[in-house]
Amino acid sequence: MLDAIRWDTDLIRRYDQSGPRYTSYPTAVQFNQRVGSFDLLHALRDSRKAQRPLSIYVHVPFCANICYYCACNKVITKDRGRALPYLERLEREIELVACHLDPAQKVEQLHFGGGTPTFLSHDELRRLMAHLRSHFNLLDDDSGDYGIEIDPREADWSTMGLLRELGFNRVSLGVQDLDPSVQRAINRLQSLEETRAIVEAARTLQYRSVNIDLIYGLPRQTPERFARTVEEIIALQPDRLSVFNYAHLPERFMPQRRINAADLPSPADKLEMLQGSIEQLTRAGYRYIGMDHFALPDDELAMAQEDGSLQRNFQGYTTHGHCDLIGLGVSAISQVGDLYSQNSSNLADYQSSLDNDLLATSRGLLCNQDDRLRRAVIQQLICQFQLQFAEIERAFGIEFRSYFSDLWPQLQRMASDGLIELTPQGIDIRPAGRLLARSVCMLFDHYLTEQNNQRFSRVI
Ligand code: SF4
Repeated sequence: MLDAIRWDTDLIRRYDQSGPRYTSYPTAVQFNQRVGSFDLLHALRDSRKAQRPLSIYVHVPFCANICYYCACNKVITKDRGRALPYLERLEREIELVACHLDPAQKVEQLHFGGGTPTFLSHDELRRLMAHLRSHFNLLDDDSGDYGIEIDPREADWSTMGLLRELGFNRVSLGVQDLDPSVQRAINRLQSLEETRAIVEAARTLQYRSVNIDLIYGLPRQTPERFARTVEEIIALQPDRLSVFNYAHLPERFMPQRRINAADLPSPADKLEMLQGSIEQLTRAGYRYIGMDHFALPDDELAMAQEDGSLQRNFQGYTTHGHCDLIGLGVSAISQVGDLYSQNSSNLADYQSSLDNDLLATSRGLLCNQDDRLRRAVIQQLICQFQLQFAEIERAFGIEFRSYFSDLWPQLQRMASDGLIELTPQGIDIRPAGRLLARSVCMLFDHYLTEQNNQRFSRVI
């Protein structure tokens, strides 16, 4: 049984630094343009030969309204007519990818993200799922993890009924904050009743899991107001909760320029919000999974963490890390064997590639042996909070301490600061260090330099 996390303000202040979220290693910042669609086709054929199961991600970029905090790849439009031409390109992409895979490869995981996936009409959603089913081996016995991101302002009971009928059994709801003054400051007006209606629909329709996203550090938030939001969300009993840190980077993300910096909470208030929400969630029985994620103890993520099978990929924490990940849609990322490949993030470029019957791969990375080794180390630390050197040594034929000898002084410093326990057998991230797990991972990140450090949000 994993210990709970322990709050240590001094340690947090000392080790809080900008860093990647490690949904992949190497991170997407390292992707280069030497990788193209030819590499993806090769990797797909290897996947077919190895008969690996699949995880499919479909990106729908459209949103009807802009949230000012947004850092996603999206297109803001009220013109619902833009969905159909995009759907036609998605269908073409599905055909081009699927013909290199074996129809027997099971799709264990499916995720629709965005943007707002329900920007598509009911007919368009039906059509997209039918196309996926006719080209991939989607499971029809409800045993797969088929999830979709829902904006409660853009969905109702009939949407939830349709999605369940189409095979979805998990939903992730964007909420962020329930306070009206915070909602006005981020341009996202969404009542508790709208969110509650979707949660109730999910329960009634027997969705297996409900996730809710919250963000702390938004304009006009205070520790008291955020605590009320957390309390009201706990009352809805989501199976999983994500509590993200808002990183204000207006020079990188245009919509954030509409946030008044004077309305942002102070670092001390943010710390209080994080500490308060962790206490509230722990009291309510949620377990800290890692990297902003909490889950009830009977949730699959919590159980996978217990039995050591939890992994992390572009969809966050997952129990399907053994699958090849097929990303469909503008900006979507695939991870097939040792290859990462990303579609163009420009909608016009993505669409025109597919009009020419070409995959829209624009960049990526082929992992080398050192990448694989470091990826295994980072996965262990970020998912299990511990690492056994012998396992890495066996898997990669190295002597851990000599391979990473240059890191030893820093690991020893972390150990004497109480962040980790360092023994001849391995590393244990202590309860006081778990909120800072990525600071430990960053030591093993070969590519991290001061320059690209600036691109990432802080740990806290
Ligand atoms: S936060 Fe989500 S719903 Fe809001 S604009 Fe960004 S992608 Fe769309």
